[in-house]
Amino acid sequence: MFDSSVRTLVVVGAQWGDEGKGKLVDVLAEQADWVVRYQGGANAGHTVYVGEQKTVLHQVPSGILHPGVRCAIGNGVVLDPAQLFVEIEKLVAQGVDVVGRLYVSDRAHLVMPYHKQVDGASSASKAIGTTGRGIGPCYVDKVARRGVRVLDLRNPARLRTLVEAGVGHANEQLVASGSALRASVDETMAFLSDVAPRLLPLAEDVGLALSNAVKARAALLLEGAQGSLLDVDHGTYPFVTSSNTTVGGAATGAGVPPTALHAALGVVKAYTTRVGNGPMPTELGDALGEEIRRIGNEFGATTGRPRRCGWFDGVVARYAARVNGLTALAVTKLDVLDTLPELKLCTGYLVDGELLREFPGDLDLLERAVPQYDVLPGWRRSTADARRWDDLPGEAKRYLYRLEELSGTPIRYVSVGTRRDQIIDVKA
Ligand code: GDP
Repeated sequence: MFDSSVRTLVVVGAQWGDEGKGKLVDVLAEQADWVVRYQGGANAGHTVYVGEQKTVLHQVPSGILHPGVRCAIGNGVVLDPAQLFVEIEKLVAQGVDVVGRLYVSDRAHLVMPYHKQVDGASSASKAIGTTGRGIGPCYVDKVARRGVRVLDLRNPARLRTLVEAGVGHANEQLVASGSALRASVDETMAFLSDVAPRLLPLAEDVGLALSNAVKARAALLLEGAQGSLLDVDHGTYPFVTSSNTTVGGAATGAGVPPTALHAALGVVKAYTTRVGNGPMPTELGDALGEEIRRIGNEFGATTGRPRRCGWFDGVVARYAARVNGLTALAVTKLDVLDTLPELKLCTGYLVDGELLREFPGDLDLLERAVPQYDVLPGWRRSTADARRWDDLPGEAKRYLYRLEELSGTPIRYVSVGTRRDQIIDVKA
């Protein structure tokens, strides 16, 4: 997707996450100079297959698997340093060259052990279905202006003051939730003094480095985590994540000016999945939903939780296209639908006798929404070996044309399997 006019590209999930962004970023990283994460934390799990080798990345940008590509973790990410080191060690053990290629924004906030304690003890976290990794509480502290940033590790006196405030607040939360756990300033400081010598060598003014890269017309790929419908502003609030997953978040979370972003690729599955609670109008609560889950292996990369499965939702896709200003779509997991005799695409919601074509902000409307479907015939043969648009069965093309029409965004890529080579570039 990079060319002389597109030098900065944002890749976002255009549903509820797990769309297969990791694979797309991996494929596109080949053409990139930089790959950047801009929000979220270790709750996101990107799965990338190179040959038969499976790599699950939580915090390190997927570009790391391409030698020579520089990778950055932006200021908008909340960083779990212990998890980061585990990930780096795994990559090094696989022979991936990480040293000198991975940069961490000195403004990124740190997920502290007490954030995880608070997350685990909070009934609100459980109701929303969070991953319990301390991401939400870390973002809360960031907004409440008592967060600890990477750069604070350089100043032990300031660090201690911040930790005291954080621990004090965490203990109030733990007491309120009825938990017997307590956070400790000394233990937290010991944890941080262990982390600092390993993390500080990676710390960088990432916003400055990326802005310089933009000026030099380097190819920048900014990878979103989770999906647009989990965006704290534009998603199905309160069943959302704590950050801006959409393209706007790429600018603030990487420190790159919005005017420097040239294109946005929205990744959608050929159907819909959602993990955790919250509305999902096209959910299939029946045997077919289970079949899609089984064929698509729809279990979370981070938590192993089964994902809820349903038909492709054109209302969601069109909304995501609008909020993100998508310039192209990548449709993944088409192969998962290979055996189904009949496929449905949601064209609108019927709510109290009225047809809704715009995705509403009010969850009550979504709970009452009755999806309206177009029904199309399945292709009932394998698409796994398709490498060009014309290799696809006629019914699959028809399905994709309709999906494209409903989304209002041209399809650029179709993914037909987990492997790097199982992809169709429609323009190739
Ligand atoms: P991400 O967070 O958006 O990167 O998504 P995940 O990594 O959680 O989930 C995507 C899963 O789908 C991974 O296991 C991928 O290997 C797999 N995947 C990606 N594209 C395809 C595809 O076209 N077909 C199939 N069958 N699996 C795919």
